Amino acid sequence: MNINNHPCFNPKACKDFGRVHLPVAPACNIQCNFCNRKFDCVNESRPGVSSSILSPDQAMAYLAEVVAAKGNISVVGIAGPGDPFANPVQTMETLRKVRQAYPDMLLCVASNGLNIGPYLDELAEICVSHVSITVNAVDPVIGEKIYSWVRDNKKTMGPELGARLLLRRQMSAIRGLVERGIMVKVNTIVLPGINETHVADIAREMSLLGVDLFNCMPYFPNEGANLSHLSEPSAKLMKKLRKAAREFIPQMTHCKRCRADAVGLLDDPLNTHLMDRLKHHANAPLPFPGKEKTFSASPGGGMAASSKPTGDPPKKSPRTYVAVATREGVLVNQHLGEARTLNIYDISHDAPMMVEKRRMPKPGTRDFRWFGTAEVLKDCHTLLVSGIGQNPKEILTQEGLTVLE
Ligand code: SF4
Ligand code: SF4
Repeated sequence: MNINNHPCFNPKACKDFGRVHLPVAPACNIQCNFCNRKFDCVNESRPGVSSSILSPDQAMAYLAEVVAAKGNISVVGIAGPGDPFANPVQTMETLRKVRQAYPDMLLCVASNGLNIGPYLDELAEICVSHVSITVNAVDPVIGEKIYSWVRDNKKTMGPELGARLLLRRQMSAIRGLVERGIMVKVNTIVLPGINETHVADIAREMSLLGVDLFNCMPYFPNEGANLSHLSEPSAKLMKKLRKAAREFIPQMTHCKRCRADAVGLLDDPLNTHLMDRLKHHANAPLPFPGKEKTFSASPGGGMAASSKPTGDPPKKSPRTYVAVATREGVLVNQHLGEARTLNIYDISHDAPMMVEKRRMPKPGTRDFRWFGTAEVLKDCHTLLVSGIGQNPKEILTQEGLTVLE
C-alpha cells in the first residue's frame, strides 16, 4: 500500500491512479442548506448524487467488477450519498470487507464529522489512510446560516444548537484523526455572502489542528435546496480565496466535485457501462437471514464470494408491528404526507390483528415531522404507504423502518 497513490491527496498520482466510490450510505445526519440529495441524476456531477444505493455485499460484488475492468484503482472511498457515519453499520462493514479482500487498497472516507468519533480507533485498525471532513465554518454564528438541522443520537437540533455541536465534533474528530496518523483533508464549500470572508479563518484553524490538505470547493447551485438562490462563486474569487488559504495550509486545486458513485481517474467522463453494472448490483438479491457472505481476494486481484450458515438463529426484532396508511382501513391507498393517522397491525398471528389507530405528528414542521413519525412508529418494523417523499423515506429508513410503496 503506497499512501502517495491517492489521486485526490496527491495531484501527481491523478493521471495514473483512479478511485471508486461505493454508495452504501444513503442517510445523512445533518441538513446543509446548500444540499439537495438526489439518487438518480446521471447528468449531475457533484457530491450527494448517486444513481443507486448498494448494501455492503452488493458493493463488494460491484467492486470486483470495477477492479477487473479498470486496472488503475488505488483507492476505495465511501462518500455518501449521505454521510458515511449516519450509516455506520453499512460503512464499517464495507470498509472491513474491502480491507479483507484487498489488503493493498487505500481506504478513504468523506464525512461531515458529526458521528465519526466513535469509529476512529477501528478506522485506524483497518488502515483507513485518508479522511476528508467538510468544515464550512469555525464560527457557529456563520454555521447557523449553513445548517438547518443536526441530528445526534435520535435528538434533532435546530441551526443554533446544531451548528455548535457539529463544530465541536468536527474539531475533536480532526484532532483524533491526526493523532492516529490518518491523512486529513478539509473541504470547505464556498457560499457567496455566507462564508466567503471566513475561508481564511477556517484554513488557519485547520492548520493549527495539523490538517494535511485544504480543499476550497465552489458552491454548486442545487435546485430545491434552501440556498438555491445563491450563485456559484466566480473563478476569480476562488483563486483569491485559495491564495489566502495557502498562507496557512497546502491547497487541493484539482478537485472534480465527484459524485457519490464516481469511478476511475478523476478526469474520466461518466462511465455508463459501470453505472449500469452499479444499478445491476443494487438490484441483486440480498443474502438470506442467518447466512453471511464472505469475500476473499482471488489470485487475479478480483474477489470470490461464498455463503455459509452463521449457525446463529436470526435475532428477533424488538419491532413487532406493521403500520399502514389507509383511507378506509382496507386498502393501502394513502400517501404518507396526507395521513393523519396510521393503522397498526400485529402480523405475528395466522391472521393480521389490528392493534390501534395511531395519530401522526402534525404537518408543517418540516423534517421534525418525520423524526416524530419515526418515534411514534418505534415498535413497527414496516410501513406500507401508497406514496412517500424521498426525504421522509430516507429519514424513516435511517431510523430503522422498512418502507414499502
Ligand atoms: S473524491 Fe473524496 S472520498 Fe473520493 S477518494 Fe477522493 S478524497 Fe476520497
Ligand atoms: S453532509 Fe453532505 S449529504 Fe449531508 S446534507 Fe450536507 S452536503 Fe448533503
